[in-house]
Amino acid sequence: MLPASLDEAVRAMAESPGAVPVAGGTDLMGAVNAGLLRPMALLGLGRVTELRGWQYQDGAALLGAGLTHSRMARPDFAALIPALAEAAATVGPPQVRNVGTLGGNIVSAHPSGDTLPVLAALEATVTLVGADGAREVAVSHLLTGLDPLRSGELLAFVRVPLLHAPQVFLKSGGRTGPARAVASVSLVLDPARRAVRCAVGAVAPVPLRPLEAEQWVAGCIDWDGERTVDPGVAQAFGEYVASACVPDTGSESPVPTTARLRRTVSVLARRALGRALK
Ligand SMILES: Cc1cc2nc3c(=O)[nH]c(=O)nc-3n(C[C@H](O)[C@H](O)[C@H](O)COP(=O)(O)OP(=O)(O)OC[C@H]3O[C@@H](n4cnc5c(N)ncnc54)[C@H](O)[C@@H]3O)c2cc1C
Repeated sequence: MLPASLDEAVRAMAESPGAVPVAGGTDLMGAVNAGLLRPMALLGLGRVTELRGWQYQDGAALLGAGLTHSRMARPDFAALIPALAEAAATVGPPQVRNVGTLGGNIVSAHPSGDTLPVLAALEATVTLVGADGAREVAVSHLLTGLDPLRSGELLAFVRVPLLHAPQVFLKSGGRTGPARAVASVSLVLDPARRAVRCAVGAVAPVPLRPLEAEQWVAGCIDWDGERTVDPGVAQAFGEYVASACVPDTGSESPVPTTARLRRTVSVLARRALGRALK
């Protein structure tokens, strides 16, 4: 099935309850080829042009779920949502970025999905459409299963508030070259609310928000002045974020990577803050 519009796609989903939507296929076809999934039918979303662009709406950007990582990494998109462009630019090799989509990254909900901490920090929402209409759900609720994608629904759009302030995505893949994240950090400044929002990816099944660390560091920033903090504050912020997001399993830990992971998250968070405030 190759619907040419969102309406057609929603109708096709309702008429073929066993059909599985496929966008770039980079996750889905891997699962099919590995014998992990045997869909009764595939619903290709590649011809649904409404899902491939973006538009402005009430101070936010409404992004089509079919935007590819390559498209989001381009300069015009980077000027709009820099952290999402940075995340998209680090996804896999170019062949994957050219076809892999924002919607597929969200629905796959892999812990190391690079767009996920960015969307969590930006407090993005998604529009899910089905035969009964459309509903808006916070990305964090979708990912935690508080408000999951229902049978027959498609993820159509991602709504991202435009903050017009520095925002950063940093990722450690544990090696050089393209790699899935071992840890990632997205940090955004929200000057209108005098807030710092931060999300840590890949260290847990869903992105984690270190809310106390966010509040503490926001209180250290001179919002009306130069918006800087001294290096000691940045260092302490990194450690605060790491201790909030990577559990301390103690020196007897059977998980020897914990200390290294904490260090990695601490460095990423410190650098992310430094880059956002520079
Ligand atoms: C070699 C390789 C390297 C990779 N490296 C990275 C990496 O570094 N970082 C990273 O984040 N990811 C990585 N990925 C994973 C992958 O590329 C991304 O998750 C990609 O964004 C998935 O998008 P897609 O369009 O290919 O999804 P698909 O494979 O088409 O679909 C994935 C899932 O989402 C569902 N789906 C897709 N679109 C919709 C929609 N609009 N509505 C409802 N359901 C939908 C499908 O049914 C399926 O369950 C890598 C993959 C490969 C193969």
